[in-house]
Amino acid sequence: MKHTPLLAAAFSLLAAPVLAEEVNVYSYRQPELIAPLMEAFSAQTGIEVNIAFLNKGMIERLVAEGARSPADVILTTDVARLAAAVEAGVTQKVQSAALEANIPAIYRDPDDQWFGITMRARVVFASKEAVAPGEVTTYEDLADAKWRGRICTRSGTNAYTLGLVAAYLAHHGEADTRTWLEGLKANLARKPQGNDRAQVKAVWAGLCDIALGNTYYMGKMLANPDQVQWAESVNVIFPSFEGGGTHVNISGMALAAHAPNRDAAVQLMEFLASPEAQEIYAEVNYEYPLAPGTRPSQLVASWGSFTPDNINLMEIARLRPAALRLVQEVDFDG
Ligand code: FE
Repeated sequence: MKHTPLLAAAFSLLAAPVLAEEVNVYSYRQPELIAPLMEAFSAQTGIEVNIAFLNKGMIERLVAEGARSPADVILTTDVARLAAAVEAGVTQKVQSAALEANIPAIYRDPDDQWFGITMRARVVFASKEAVAPGEVTTYEDLADAKWRGRICTRSGTNAYTLGLVAAYLAHHGEADTRTWLEGLKANLARKPQGNDRAQVKAVWAGLCDIALGNTYYMGKMLANPDQVQWAESVNVIFPSFEGGGTHVNISGMALAAHAPNRDAAVQLMEFLASPEAQEIYAEVNYEYPLAPGTRPSQLVASWGSFTPDNINLMEIARLRPAALRLVQEVDFDG
């Protein structure tokens, strides 16, 4: 939470009849990650950015605040959260040529209610010792009996798992997805538990040979002296769906339903979607920029290249309840 702009606004009230323009951001992203971008935006436009960093309950808070909400822009990860915000009525449409130009259509809401800024891929972290390069190429293959007792993953009801299962559903339909989930469950080295990094730690510890996780955790582990050895014990493998690409999800944004500073908010959104800002945002978060012609950081690029899946993320969000039902039906965590 940044308090200084409030003080600054109070002083400017005393000093001048005109209030400085400002924009209020509700963010699930950590302030230190987004602060440099916000400062660049303020320097460029003179618009002050106030950031409220939230751990949870953003939608509930926006609903409770209703028309009195100070929120202008919502920053979060996962299309499921963005879709839930739309569902709860706490967002509004933005029609902007700049957003359309810089964000490919499959990474924004067909109804213009949310927009991706960067993306992450859900990949396989494979033991350098136990898995030869080229041994895993598809998500479908993870259900193959050759992996019996060798896979670690977090809970089936976690948002990241549900996103992947929803993508599987989009490609293969319900019957095949159930069979795949049963096969994947049969291949687990242990009951699903822990976060993504805990799976890589388990590979490092020899509990399993491959783990499922999001790409940016590789960057986070490499930056953490206690975890760097986990990261260095695995290769990043980008599986694809048969007939598709690698499953991705986004970090994204939406305009709050009652945005009191609508114009400044749209300016901020257009700034964040600009190719330069996408590259900076992607670099600090170890993610991938979306705009045509942009590139990930050198570190992220060093993990390899991939073709992102071709399914509109709204379809992933739409299939999420069906994915959850299947995960529960096969008792994935049991
Ligand atoms: Fe995460």
